[in-house]
Amino acid sequence: MAMQRTLSIIKPDATRRNLTGEINARFEKAGLRIVAQRRIQLSRAQAEAFYAVHKERPFYNDLCNFMTSGPVVVQALEGEDAIAQNRKVMGATNPAEAEAGTIRKDFAESIEANSVHGSDAPETAAQEIAFFFAGVDIVG
Ligand code: GDP
Repeated sequence: MAMQRTLSIIKPDATRRNLTGEINARFEKAGLRIVAQRRIQLSRAQAEAFYAVHKERPFYNDLCNFMTSGPVVVQALEGEDAIAQNRKVMGATNPAEAEAGTIRKDFAESIEANSVHGSDAPETAAQEIAFFFAGVDIVG
C-alpha cells in the first residue's frame, strides 16, 4: 500500500472540550503521523471556501457557522493508505451510525458537530492540505 497524506481538522466541538490530545492519540495509535499541525480560528470566508463543495446543501450555512464558532486544529496526517485509514478511525459522518471505538462514536455531539474532518480522496486531500499548509510547513 502507498504512503499518503490526508488533511484532518479537529473541529470546534472537540477543541472546546479539550479533546485535541485524545484525538491525536487515536491517530498515532492507528499508525498516522502528524506531519503538520496548527491551531487557528477560521474566518467566515475560509470556512465557506473550504466547504464550497457543499454550497448547495441545506446545511451549508449552519456548517460554516459551526466551523467558525471556535478554534480548530488543522493537520496533515501521513501513513500507509492514510486517507482510508483516517476515515476508518474517524467513523461515519453521523455518530449514531459510527462504529464502536471510532472518534465520532466516542466524541461527536451530532451529525454536524462531529469532532473531526478528513479528506475523502487523493485529489481532495492534496487540495485541502494546500489550502492550509505550504510545503515547508510539512515535515515527514
Ligand atoms: P464527512 O466527509 O464525513 O465529514 O461528511 P460530508 O462531507 O458529507 O459533510 C461534511 C460535514 O458537514 C460533516 O462532517 C458534518 O459536519 C456536516 N454535515 C453533514 N451532513 C449533515 C447534515 O445532514 N446536517 C448538518 N447540520 N450537518 C451535516
